[in-house]
Amino acid sequence: MYDHRKLGRELGLFDTDPLIGSGLPYWLPDGAIVRHSLEEYIRTVERRAGYRHVYSPVLGKRELYEISGHWSHYSDDMYPPMDLGGEQVVLRPSLCPHHAVIYRSRSHSYRELPLRLAELGGMYRSELSGVLGGLTRVRCIQLNDAHIFCTLDQVADEAAAALELIATAYRAMGISATRYRLSLPGPGGKYVAAPEKWQRATKLLIEALDCSGLPYESAEGEAAFYGPKIDVQVTDHAGRESTLSTVQIDFHQPEQFDLHYIGADGDKHRPVMVHRSIIGSVERAMAQLIEQHGGAFPAWLAPIQVIVLPVSEAEDGVAAELAEHCRTAGLRAEVSAAAGGSLGARIRENRLVPYQFVVGPAEAAHGDVSVRLRDGRRLPAQPAAQIVRRVGELVESHAGRLWAD
Ligand SMILES: [Zn+2]
Repeated sequence: MYDHRKLGRELGLFDTDPLIGSGLPYWLPDGAIVRHSLEEYIRTVERRAGYRHVYSPVLGKRELYEISGHWSHYSDDMYPPMDLGGEQVVLRPSLCPHHAVIYRSRSHSYRELPLRLAELGGMYRSELSGVLGGLTRVRCIQLNDAHIFCTLDQVADEAAAALELIATAYRAMGISATRYRLSLPGPGGKYVAAPEKWQRATKLLIEALDCSGLPYESAEGEAAFYGPKIDVQVTDHAGRESTLSTVQIDFHQPEQFDLHYIGADGDKHRPVMVHRSIIGSVERAMAQLIEQHGGAFPAWLAPIQVIVLPVSEAEDGVAAELAEHCRTAGLRAEVSAAAGGSLGARIRENRLVPYQFVVGPAEAAHGDVSVRLRDGRRLPAQPAAQIVRRVGELVESHAGRLWAD
């Protein structure tokens, strides 16, 4: 594996500046393309799975976090409040309280459940500067988050479906989980009290894990303050393990925010909140992608998907038209013009680009393209329109492989 901080700078993906501050990385154009593709993929997968997206502000009144329990259980990780005309506002440490309030803003019938609210939203953590590094420990986080409001007997299925979504996303991203961890409370931690709810939530998570057939280990002292969780652990280039994805069951916040739905009996009932994140923070997911692939991203994430290489200047014009054809077909394509050096040198320069389209005199004359794949494989010359369509399909399928024979 590679060090994502080193590669991030070398490949022009992201960087930091002391004037902006530590733990506050910014994204360069190529990094922004990868990140944007990842975020769009997640939104698409979530929409297909029945999630509905919302936006909520990164600030909230102190009172919001007092109700959620963050103020008393999580304040060490929060920024100090800002005074605004007698009111205190806080940079949010999580999206959950906002989503609970959004749920509460409308009345809900049992027929609407499970109601799945999702958001790729900003949140903030007041990490000390000593522990900050690259994208894995940051102060400003873009979280792939969702909250499923459901009945008690829907919880296990929803948690299992979330685990399935996580597995699907990992396959598309070409990253692997180190292990699944059932994170339980430990001695001395700050947790909301209600032992019977903790036991019930733990039982449901075990049910979801069993139904998914995934091997897992239990760990004490790793739970959220409001409930137990399933953590999907990944390992970085230095062998350090961290949590990327998570599924949590929460009886606490529905109580705190007095959430309810109208049941088939016409009475008010309390929903359960399942918190889940498919790829965790976008920053950490990007770090994992960079380290695992060394910059040779799966084609759907690559900043440039197709590089068109004219053999000589005589093919520069045809190459430019071909790149335009690719862009019209939705692919990210560029030309590496003949003036840029020998064909071999230009191929080396573009070695991370998954599809390299070579156009020589014979190809130009017949409207063909010879394709080199990033892994060194060469495909025979084929009509340009056919190859562009095929590459478009492969990218769109989010398959890990570059070519299907
Ligand atoms: Zn949450």
